[in-house]
Formats: sequence, C-alpha cells, structure tokens
Amino acid sequence: MLKGKIALVTGSTRGIGLGIARALAAQGANIVLNGFGERREIEQIENELEKAYNVRVMHHPADLQSPDEIYEMVEWTRAQLGPVEILVNNAGIQYVAPVDELPRDRWDAIIAINLSAAFHAIHDALPLMKRKGWGRIVNIASTHGLVGSINKSAYVAAKHGLVGLTKVVALETAGTGITVNAVCPGWVRTSLVEKQIEDRAAQSGVEIATAARGLLIEKQPSQQFVSIEQVAQLVVFLCSEAANQMTGAAITMDGGWTAQ
Ligand code: NAD
Repeated sequence: MLKGKIALVTGSTRGIGLGIARALAAQGANIVLNGFGERREIEQIENELEKAYNVRVMHHPADLQSPDEIYEMVEWTRAQLGPVEILVNNAGIQYVAPVDELPRDRWDAIIAINLSAAFHAIHDALPLMKRKGWGRIVNIASTHGLVGSINKSAYVAAKHGLVGLTKVVALETAGTGITVNAVCPGWVRTSLVEKQIEDRAAQSGVEIATAARGLLIEKQPSQQFVSIEQVAQLVVFLCSEAANQMTGAAITMDGGWTAQ
C-alpha cells in the first residue's frame, strides 16, 4: 500500500516507534529510523526489516533536543532516499513528579522532545510534502494530550501542545493532499511505562504484576494494555487512502480511558 514511500519515524529504535517503523515497512515504505541505542542492535533492526520487507532502512542518530540535528536528519533523509513523505513524530520521554518538585531541566527536556521536536521536523519536512502534493504527518500524542493526570505537568502540557499543533498544521494544509493527525494511546507496555510500574511496585511494596494491574484499574476501563502493534496499525490506516479526509483529528486508542 505504501510501496516506495519514504517514512521518517522519530524515536524508533524501540517501543511504539519501532512498531510503527515495522508496520510501515511491511506496507513497502522505506524507513529512516531515529533514536538512541547500541550501534550493533540498531544495525540488526535495519537488516531484519530490510530482509523481511524488501525495503531500505537507515538510521539517523539526531538528538531531538537539537533543532539543528533535526534539520540535518530531514536533509540527510532527502539526500539518501528522497523527501520525507510520511513523518511520524513519535519520540517522547516522561518524568513523574509534583509540579513544584519537577526539576527544571526535565521540564525543558520534555517540552523539547515531546513537543518542539515535532514542530521542527514539520517545519523542515513540510515544504517538500507541499511540493509533492502528498504527505502524512502523524503525531504520537497520548490520552495525556486530552486529559490530565497528577504528577505529569510537563508531559501533559507537551502532549496537549502536540494536539494543538496537529490541529493548526492540519488547517494550514487542508486540501493539499497532506493530512496531519494525532494518535492518543492509553497505557502501552513499553520501557516508558515499565519504569512507572517498577516505581509503583517499589513505592507500594507490591509485585510488578500487581502494580501493572493497579495502573490499569486506575485509568483504563478495559483493564488491558494497548499493544504496540495496534497503535502501529492505526498509523498505517492514517497513511492509507481511506484516511484522505481525516485531518486535524486526535484519535484515541485507550481502552475507554478518556470516555470516563
Ligand atoms: P520508549 O521509551 O520505549 O521509546 C522512546 C524512543 O524515543 C526510543 O527510541 C528513544 O531512543 C527515543 N528518544 C528518546 N529521547 C530522544 C531524543 N532526545 N532524541 C531522539 N530520540 C529519542 O517509549 P514509548 O512508550 O515507545 O513511547 C513512544 C511515544 O509514545 C512517546 O511519545 C510517548 O509519549 C507516547 N506514548 C506512550 C504511551 C505508553 O503507554 N507507552 C502511551 C501514550 C503515548
């Protein structure tokens, strides 16, 4: 379905981003991975995806806190494969603390990686999408782009900002062949959440399984985790022709979290 398209997925060396990269590659898209990790492990991912789906897969190590490195990554993608046609702004970090105990540098890092990086990547990739008359931008927000939770001020502010950015860029590109949407998952069991489960287990002196259940009971009525593959398939759908008229949406996949 996406044969020959060029997709840049930020934060795709593991977790949801890697799942999205894999699902796009399975549809025939060439992929630029981004994110941190061991060189050897990243090469293994590149080789595995290239062999499995007969596409090109490369990695750019841009630190998304740096607008210059984001610019270099978009330009490097253009030089290596061609202009970015599918941009998935996925990278994100978390820090859990009451607002008056949140270290200032964690606020800055979360806003930079979870929000400003998406602006910079869109800013740099959009002109070439406009020239082509086709493009897909998918911003991986969160239920926390729609509702708040205690102790997550920076994350919730960044994700609400990302949903706002999605709406504005969707309006600015409406009717041009470019769509811009946000995906808002509930709990997905990745390393970002595993850390919160471990902290919860340590704080309450319970087993990991009990802490994980507690997390779900508190927020997610289905009491089941969303899977990486489910989020990835939603992104594939947003890149399909069927989604041509979907733009500016913030789509939940949260087991009922935000219906409450
Ligand atoms: P993860 O921690 O497993 O993966 C994060 C990825 O981002 C990694 O590849 C990491 O190397 C990369 N990254 C981090 N900082 C970076 C930087 N400065 N520059 C470049 N890359 C960087 O996290 P995840 O759970 O897969 O989260 C992916 C996205 O999904 C995030 O935006 C997160 O907020 C969002 N999300 C996650 C959940 C969840 O429950 N896991 C729920 C809703 C939304």
